[in-house]
Amino acid sequence: MEIARKYARDRELFGGKLSDHQGIQWMFADSATEIEASRMLTLKAASELVQGKDARHSLSMAKLYTSEMLTRVIDRAIQICGSHGYSRDLPLEWFYRDARAARLADGPSEVHRMVLGRGLISGKEDF
Ligand SMILES: Cc1cc2nc3c(=O)[nH]c(=O)nc-3n(C[C@H](O)[C@H](O)[C@H](O)COP(=O)(O)OP(=O)(O)OC[C@H]3O[C@@H](n4cnc5c(N)ncnc54)[C@H](O)[C@@H]3O)c2cc1C
Repeated sequence: MEIARKYARDRELFGGKLSDHQGIQWMFADSATEIEASRMLTLKAASELVQGKDARHSLSMAKLYTSEMLTRVIDRAIQICGSHGYSRDLPLEWFYRDARAARLADGPSEVHRMVLGRGLISGKEDF
């Protein structure tokens, strides 16, 4: 998002800055909100681990959300940077390929959803 912010601030088109467009501003808002949500989920899981609690539910939530958030946030950054984001001029395409593995490694998303869903339906975990 730092790369996208620099591009949006610098890029001039149709007599204005790319960052002046509401559609671009909303992408920053969505990505920042998702990054913050990931931080909070990760901190919650870490806090439970430190307290010696069973953190499996919180860990699955943090891992599922953060790994899927990564590709959405990088995808928006690529969109904001246009063809520069897609090309190797910027490292975003590499980030995107790298981030894709996060939905497989340490348990694919489906397995974390299965763990979460089972815990919630059985009533072991609450909303
Ligand atoms: C970059 C990278 C690093 C990795 N690092 C490690 C590591 O350090 N240590 C380690 O042990 N493993 C590691 N892995 C392996 C990773 O955990 C597995 O790739 C992952 O668990 C999926 O297993 P699999 O590849 O054998 O595919 P399979 O078990 O054949 O699964 C294929 C797909 O089926 C789906 N699936 C699986 N189970 C279910 C289910 N219950 N319900 C619905 N759908 C399901 C998922 O979409 C999954 O991607 C890594 C993988 C990658 C890509």
